[in-house]
Amino acid sequence: MAVKTCPKCNEDNLSTSVVCISCGSSLAKSGVMGENHSDDLLINQHNYKKTSRKKWIITLLVLAFLIFLALMVIKLIAS
Ligand SMILES: [Zn+2]
Repeated sequence: MAVKTCPKCNEDNLSTSVVCISCGSSLAKSGVMGENHSDDLLINQHNYKKTSRKKWIITLLVLAFLIFLALMVIKLIAS
């Protein structure tokens, strides 16, 4: 979700907010700054999603390897 960060208290407000929910100062003046900031946030979120997906793939690979090892051990014990 896009947010506007208050220039006074750094409180995150809704992008549609006109005044800060925390200190009540106007957010209209920092509108352009806020939009840029939310773009950065979106890019960061996108990168985060990418890295978290990579982590998931690594986790799944490790899990698959562990299951494979367990099956090999079970086979060795059973034989
Ligand atoms: Zn504020």
